[in-house]
Amino acid sequence: MLPPTSPTPKSVKVHLKDGTGMDIEWMDGHKSIYSFQYLRDACPCALCNEERVKQNREPGERPKPAPGALPMFTPPPKPTVAEGVGKYAIRFTWSDGHEHGIFSWEFLREFCPCRECSSLRRESKPPGEGVTRTVPH
Ligand SMILES: [Zn+2]
Ligand SMILES: [Zn+2]
Repeated sequence: MLPPTSPTPKSVKVHLKDGTGMDIEWMDGHKSIYSFQYLRDACPCALCNEERVKQNREPGERPKPAPGALPMFTPPPKPTVAEGVGKYAIRFTWSDGHEHGIFSWEFLREFCPCRECSSLRRESKPPGEGVTRTVPH
């Protein structure tokens, strides 16, 4: 048995061809469905993390348009390549050229976008603390 701090997927499906997203079924039976848009906005690399901290966003949250700016339509990003990184993570190369984010299973499980997990995340956030999150190097 693995400790609960190391979530392990039982199956991972990346829908590269239809460009929809990724499904993970975890060892404990939980299922996570990520859209590629969500994953791109949750990119854990230092660059994207810095952008999110500046804009006070949670991983996976869409960037807010600048005040007064009209919301611009940008086509949803899609990965062109998805590859496993050892046994602990997956890495995408995106259609917009970005390729530095390594999504560990731990990170993916923590930021599972399902209603249950997102309400848990909101509840577990200590009051008064910002939404910044630092990724250890
Ligand atoms: Zn990134
Ligand atoms: Zn979940």
